[in-house]
Amino acid sequence: MALLDGHLALITGAGSGIGRAIALGFAREGARIIAVDLNVEGAAETAKDVGQDRGCSFPLDVADRSACAELAAKVAKDIGKVSILVNNAGIVRRNPFAGDADVFTKDWEDIMAVNLTGVMNVTQAFLPPLIETKGRIVNIGSIQSFVHVRTPGSAAYTTSKHGVLGFTRALGAELGKHGVRVNAIGPGFIATPLNANARTNHPELVQVFQDHTPLGRLGTAEDIVGPALFLASDLSAYVTGSIVMADGGYRTI
Ligand code: NAP
Repeated sequence: MALLDGHLALITGAGSGIGRAIALGFAREGARIIAVDLNVEGAAETAKDVGQDRGCSFPLDVADRSACAELAAKVAKDIGKVSILVNNAGIVRRNPFAGDADVFTKDWEDIMAVNLTGVMNVTQAFLPPLIETKGRIVNIGSIQSFVHVRTPGSAAYTTSKHGVLGFTRALGAELGKHGVRVNAIGPGFIATPLNANARTNHPELVQVFQDHTPLGRLGTAEDIVGPALFLASDLSAYVTGSIVMADGGYRTI
């Protein structure tokens, strides 16, 4: 029997990077997959790679609360009860707080809307089936759920990821009585399209991360799949309100 047999997993931001790897990894372990993303083509590609019998995709902007509610109603009617939710969609912008106030404020609003309010929106929309199935929620935090890394201009992102960890702990406490487990993963620097620009144009910043990482390399999206499987499956039956760091040891030094 595979780890996620019988589960229906919805993954946000599943058209790219970490979300796509998690979707494919969950499918390998028997789950049916709903891949949602702003990036419609990417999500469709993920669903195609999962296989048409077990994967489907929908466009979704997690910042749009009513769109989340509409999708939840559609999924309940046409597909089934979501038993695993991975809140993975996220964005990053790096402009200094002490720079242009309008630019920083726009970054702040956009980042909070997706990285933090988006997590709440999707969780709220899919809470009824998650309670019914005694489901599992996996939120994607960051090393920036704990620390402000030594790259400039990510105060909004750091704040949003601290919020993701706070929400994870709060919901872990609140939803335990319903049998719903809520955990997070804290990736280090993972080479994905999110940071393609930094890797190409600012290799010195990337080197700062790598030099600070005991395992001595950048992560891959596949490095996050194992922790996600652990938190989504019965392997973690007595784990809630926790964060599993997958950061190559970044926070140990
Ligand atoms: P990615 O490759 O850019 O994938 C993120 C996906 O989310 C993209 O397809 C993106 O679509 C989508 N998305 C953006 N805004 C959305 C919205 N409002 N609604 C729905 N989907 C949206 O990034 P990734 O590196 O896999 O990151 C996934 C998560 O891991 C994020 O929460 C990120 O903060 C977190 N994380 C990443 C790293 C890292 O080093 N990569 C480290 C720690 C944490 P578009 O392409 O159209 O924008």
